[in-house]
Amino acid sequence: MVRKVQLEGRYGQYKSRKRFRLKYVKTPGGRTVIHFEKKKPKPAKCAICKAELKGIPRDVKGLPKTKKRPERPYGGYLCSKCMRKVIKEEVLK
Ligand SMILES: [Zn+2]
Repeated sequence: MVRKVQLEGRYGQYKSRKRFRLKYVKTPGGRTVIHFEKKKPKPAKCAICKAELKGIPRDVKGLPKTKKRPERPYGGYLCSKCMRKVIKEEVLK
């Protein structure tokens, strides 16, 4: 079903679909209006195997540094398996 909704007023900054997603909300008066919601950032990924990193919230804005990534070497950049591989390789060199 195609919904036709008239955009009212100024909404210049919300035109970018990259940062905002549209949400169709039905008002008590029977109209359908568009609400613009900010998109969540994509989950962090390991730089080598591209697996999703554990222990990192989707939105790290405003959090203390210790809650943004695990506190270990390469924390927040590599997953634990790849970190072990990299460290072992570096020791063997
Ligand atoms: Zn990895």
